Amino acid sequence: MVKIPEVMNKYCPSCGKHQSMKVKQEKSARRKGGLSAMARREKRKRRGYGNKGRYSKRPVTQTKMASKTSKKVDLRLTCPDCNKKWVLSYPRTKRVEFAK
Ligand SMILES: [Zn+2]
Repeated sequence: MVKIPEVMNKYCPSCGKHQSMKVKQEKSARRKGGLSAMARREKRKRRGYGNKGRYSKRPVTQTKMASKTSKKVDLRLTCPDCNKKWVLSYPRTKRVEFAK
């Protein structure tokens, strides 16, 4: 677990100087209803019996990449002066906690 400060002193390329920026955790994009074209194709292919081609195998994320138990963290920094946002990627951790 990693404790991340709520305010970080980071360089703002827009203002050209260091600012104490607010830190928030970037959330992964939410899928808006319905399935994607590839998901619809997979659903069609998985019906019935017989060889399901590439969909007979489990996805690579469930086999090869399953050895990784942590995730990289994306932090979003907001500049108080110009209100612009920057993304700061953080090393792998299992859990993130914001400390004051
Ligand atoms: Zn700025």
